[in-house]
Amino acid sequence: MARRPELGLFQLLAGAGNALLDLVYPPSCLVCRKAVATQGAICAECWREIAFIERPYCERLGTPFDQDLGQKGLISLEASANPPAFGRARAVARYDSDKARLLAHRLKYYDRLELARPIGRWMARAGAELLSDADVLVPIPLHRLRLLSRRFNQSAALAQAISRESAVPLETMALLRVKPTAPQVGLSRAQRAANLSGAFRVAPERAAAIAGRNVVLVDDVLTTGATANAATRALLRAGAARVDLLVFARAVTSA
Ligand SMILES: [Zn+2]
Repeated sequence: MARRPELGLFQLLAGAGNALLDLVYPPSCLVCRKAVATQGAICAECWREIAFIERPYCERLGTPFDQDLGQKGLISLEASANPPAFGRARAVARYDSDKARLLAHRLKYYDRLELARPIGRWMARAGAELLSDADVLVPIPLHRLRLLSRRFNQSAALAQAISRESAVPLETMALLRVKPTAPQVGLSRAQRAANLSGAFRVAPERAAAIAGRNVVLVDDVLTTGATANAATRALLRAGAARVDLLVFARAVTSA
């Protein structure tokens, strides 16, 4: 799919009002492009297939349980065996759903302006519990070299949308990615951790925005958690009171 050259116009029209926008760009499903009633929506068929994550899930990792054991506050075996550095993680959808993966990919490479708002809205809903006592939203940063080649950070676009939705302030300058890291694909758990060791730090001049605060880290996708854990440790070292994690899609390996 080619980058849409008219995105600037799309934004302009979005600012001018929905009626005008609908006239020029009839609302279409964010996933399959079929006609839908409102901008920023997905059709009923895609909605069914997107694999939204709902309770019951692990209170720590946010991974869905196969069956409802009827108890509240349960923690998965994975969370007790390998506790993450972050407190609680919440996700909108399972990354193993084709449609969620497609949306995450588009957000990263093509349609970020069009997708960040609606996806951010879903994330604000999925993470309502985390956001209700959060002081600040921090997107997972890209290293500046990666940012140059990609030109935008999808996590920052999502965090901005969530901030707008939840009124939790956004802090984009505090957490820095100071080490360019090799792609994580194909690395073992230990290799991933080594790859990311020292990758993040909090900028000393922005440390006051983090120290003593409840932070919600924002990323588009969560797979092994290695990146989120490394970023969390940097925030905790800078004195964050708590770090929770909110993502759009997460890998779900075990029940
Ligand atoms: Zn659709």
